[in-house]
Amino acid sequence: MAEQQLSSPVEQPDRGGSFLFLPVGARPFMTPEKFSEEQRRFWKTGDDFLRSAVLPQIGRLEQKDNALLRDLIARAGEVGLLAVDIAEEFGGLALDKVTSMLVAESQSAYGGWAATFGAHTGIGTLPIAFFGTPAQKAKFLPDLASGRKVAAYALSETGSGSDALGARTTARLSADGKHYLVNGSKMWITNGGFADLYVVFLKIDGAFTALIVERGTPGFTQGREEHKLGIRGSSTTPLVFEDAEVPAENVLGEIGKGHKIAFNILNVGRLKLAAFAIGGMKDVLKLGVEYAAQRKQFGKSIVEFGLIREKLARAAAQIYANESMVYRAAGAIDEAIAGRTEPAEVMAAIEEYAIEASIMKVTGSEWLFQIIDEVLQIHGGNGFVTDYPIERAYRDNRVNRIFEGTNEINRLLIPGMIFKRAMKGAMPLWEAMAALDAETSFPSPVGRLAPERRGAEMAKRELLFAARCAASLGPSLEKRQEVLAALADCAIEVYAMDSMLGRTLAAGDRPALRDALCRFFCMESRERAYDRARTALCAVLPPEALEEQLERLARLHRYTAVNSSEVREQIVPALLEAEGYPLAY
Ligand SMILES: Cc1cc2nc3c(=O)[nH]c(=O)nc-3n(C[C@H](O)[C@H](O)[C@H](O)COP(=O)(O)OP(=O)(O)OC[C@H]3O[C@@H](n4cnc5c(N)ncnc54)[C@H](O)[C@@H]3O)c2cc1C
Repeated sequence: MAEQQLSSPVEQPDRGGSFLFLPVGARPFMTPEKFSEEQRRFWKTGDDFLRSAVLPQIGRLEQKDNALLRDLIARAGEVGLLAVDIAEEFGGLALDKVTSMLVAESQSAYGGWAATFGAHTGIGTLPIAFFGTPAQKAKFLPDLASGRKVAAYALSETGSGSDALGARTTARLSADGKHYLVNGSKMWITNGGFADLYVVFLKIDGAFTALIVERGTPGFTQGREEHKLGIRGSSTTPLVFEDAEVPAENVLGEIGKGHKIAFNILNVGRLKLAAFAIGGMKDVLKLGVEYAAQRKQFGKSIVEFGLIREKLARAAAQIYANESMVYRAAGAIDEAIAGRTEPAEVMAAIEEYAIEASIMKVTGSEWLFQIIDEVLQIHGGNGFVTDYPIERAYRDNRVNRIFEGTNEINRLLIPGMIFKRAMKGAMPLWEAMAALDAETSFPSPVGRLAPERRGAEMAKRELLFAARCAASLGPSLEKRQEVLAALADCAIEVYAMDSMLGRTLAAGDRPALRDALCRFFCMESRERAYDRARTALCAVLPPEALEEQLERLARLHRYTAVNSSEVREQIVPALLEAEGYPLAY
């Protein structure tokens, strides 16, 4: 059955969450192999810009030269990097989300710049691009597209970070109805020290709302720069509002609908963070390969040692998986929003991929940090001193697990959204859970990557099995965070395996390398999925039922053992030859 699906993938959209239910390769989806010439050109433009304009300035930027940052934003605007997500009538290029992710990926090799660029083009600009009135768009977007002005997004406060709706900043209409008087403060705002306009979330008569606040507004000031562990080349400040007078026409979207803006924009922000992470991973893997090739111990390059080779192979497999996931979701969003112009429709289409966005926020930030950690280890003592860039990468990338929703919050969101969608009838979760009992034989794919495909299909069943046990807790499941996190981790592994295998089966070139990347990743991924499903079961089931259910779960975990060193050796030579990640765009 799985083999049939492979030979004739169904030409239907790759719907949000469908990876949980459909067999590997059932639907065609966007992959880097399908990038158009124009999409590749945009990545190259971004990459050239970063290497020629930004990277040579790291020394000055690390000293917090905000004037230079502003200048770099303006120069990025000159080559079109800020205009990708903006409509043509407002000075933008109106390009697809795949291009938007490629541009994000291209700007990631220096964390301070990636944060600055991401805050401006993503969470700063997009609220106006999606939710602004025609007058607001005409007033603000052309300057944001060109880089004449810089944007920031101000949601967090001292007392409300994850609990963003608990914001205490308020606005009340002035007696003449012309202004809102804003009072309160915001914390940790990226681009805070030099942005020209800030999308500020606050409450108007208790209703959560977004307001556009311009620099120079009377009563509005920025606090001092934070002294940070990393991304020191970016600006992070508090914002202070003391009866700040904001024109009434600067309300963004509807009063009381600010949460729609805040959370929908974070969905895009999470996807973009994962795209930034791909670039960061590639850059760091290159550092690791180069260092391992030249460093000698015991009379040999350390890259000849199996444990070093294993780290490099694992990093390459994680990059391949992350690329597969990000461009799959970006392509699916492009398909979903094609022909839609109403912001509400566009947002609904993006929201359909919110499960994937949270998954990729977690994997992008955690895999990037794992790769950095291992490459630092490859550097030995040199990794711990400031002479080598891996030390800064380690500090710069720690924050990725904290902003755009902490990874704890994103892990809670993943099963939360799956159950919610199933409850609304938008996802066949209950049917798939019920079908588990009726299944008398399991898929046994044949041909290319058959054991890995079977592993992925069985991991889907393990997830459904664990989710069914968890659902038996009823409403109290919401409070069982360790169970929700275990389900989230299973879903993460399933999306990763499904995406990289589906991509590989459709890709033509370098089959041996691609298969090895899949085999390496899947052998570890399916073990993690099983382990997390088991954790969920142990946390949920009463002792008298546990053993029997664990046995049922174990029957789903059928696998073909892999010789990891043999698989590794099909990857590492390609890394050494390419001096980094070998599948270039
Ligand atoms: C460098 C930097 C730049 C930033 N840029 C911006 C920006 O541009 N705009 C902006 O608005 N914000 C920004 N932030 C703020 C960031 O989004 C918040 O720090 C983040 O949302 C976490 O909020 P918090 O710091 O208040 O932590 P808390 O919410 O206090 O969380 C503390 C810990 O508790 C956990 N936790 C919280 N709630 C739960 C729960 N329900 N269940 C389980 N665990 C929970 C968290 O995961 C975390 O581990 C930035 C932060 C940093 C450090």
